[in-house]
Amino acid sequence: MVSIQPADIHPTSFLQPSALDCSPNQQLLPLSAQIEANGHLQVGGCDVPQLVEQYGSPLYIVDEQTVRGACQQYRQAFQRYYPGSSQVLYASKAWSCMALCALVVSEELGLDVVSGGELYTALQADVDPAVIYFHGNNKSVAELEMALTTGCTLIADNWLELERLVELIAITQPKTPPRVMLRLTPGIECHTHEYIRTGHLDSKFGFDPQQIDQVLAFAQHHPQINWVGLHAHIGSQIFELQPHQDLTQVMVEWLTKAQSLGLPMSELNIGGGLGMRYVESDDPPSIDEWSEVICTGILQACQTAKLPLPKLLCEPGRSLIGPACVTAYTMGAQKHIPDIRTYLAVDGGMSDNPRPITYQSIYSAAVANCMDKAATEIVTIAGKHCESGDILLKDVALPPSQPGDVLVIMGTGAYNYSMASNYNRLPRPAAVLVYDGDANLILRRETYQDLIRQDCFPR
Ligand SMILES: *Cc1c(COP(=O)(O)O)cnc(C)c1O
Repeated sequence: MVSIQPADIHPTSFLQPSALDCSPNQQLLPLSAQIEANGHLQVGGCDVPQLVEQYGSPLYIVDEQTVRGACQQYRQAFQRYYPGSSQVLYASKAWSCMALCALVVSEELGLDVVSGGELYTALQADVDPAVIYFHGNNKSVAELEMALTTGCTLIADNWLELERLVELIAITQPKTPPRVMLRLTPGIECHTHEYIRTGHLDSKFGFDPQQIDQVLAFAQHHPQINWVGLHAHIGSQIFELQPHQDLTQVMVEWLTKAQSLGLPMSELNIGGGLGMRYVESDDPPSIDEWSEVICTGILQACQTAKLPLPKLLCEPGRSLIGPACVTAYTMGAQKHIPDIRTYLAVDGGMSDNPRPITYQSIYSAAVANCMDKAATEIVTIAGKHCESGDILLKDVALPPSQPGDVLVIMGTGAYNYSMASNYNRLPRPAAVLVYDGDANLILRRETYQDLIRQDCFPR
């Protein structure tokens, strides 16, 4: 086992001195996280090892305070920095389930959905279609119909969709013209730590900006549609502010063009993409800083162009839900390979968090029942799937641990459950929402019966 200096990484450094004025996306642990006198990690006033005992393992633990805090920071920042009207939407693909839809809507957010299934989930959670925005680069006819019947706003992505929409409207004759935004590719390409601006963009999403004249002409010729505005989304886990600042300029140019053609467009949706901290060295801007750049960018560009202020929308996913969750696992087998590596296996893996194997994503971890011990060993956390690549975390510093200890991986709220699978027929874990010492199931653990629910024998 490799040894490191105890002072190198001490778990308490995961905790922030004053959680209240913190931007959740800059924290490794949820805002309510604390260490109890017995060295246990506590989230939402609940003892993490005890939650695992009660609800089973692995377990997604979602901190309500962090979710609400992130919603409030987005909303308040848009109110503070933008004098026009605004609406923050939660990009529900980050984690779509009824309880989380209802939770963010209770904080006056709307939702963005990208499939009939996500729309269905939102509707079942009683979300008002007036605050639902439906994205997707290949919506089926059935999905378009669903959008038209529910009356949510459609974000049109391509020509086929526009043609199908016109046909559907001719057939269904809706009483009010459907609300439609146009998605354009802005030619701003973001990688996590650098970005480039290109004349056109290699993206499967949205209309090519070179086609804007044609698309706007199509809009002019189809008054049966309520063309409410324009949309763009430049990427995810973005740490720079410049790409979004540039996006505000490009979008106001587009809007100026649309309005000069007499189109009544009055909404701009700037997408999501603000990054979050997964490891100590990540340094994303705060929700407030990001929102200020968006709001002042649009404001100034509109003043320069002498445009009335559009309604401004944004769609954070990861930065809103990611930091709110930790996944708790029970540690099992340990394999020491002298002079090479120590593997600590947990009772989940790529089925509950496919991001490491898919994107080589890095996370932070701690042992929830010995948060007071110094991290003196470098280990590799392995999942239990039949894939050598099923490694959740490579070369992480942890205190000495043994089978039965509870490992937490931090920042697992975004794109974990939503991308989870039943690989190797592992039932999906449960999720609990914690607040002030209270835990509530928001997703039941799958059972073996659930696994064979869709199985049938041929006749
Ligand atoms: C994925 C996505 C988002 C959210 O992105 P995050 O990086 O999670 O904030 C917002 N809008 C659209 C259209 C998306 O596809």
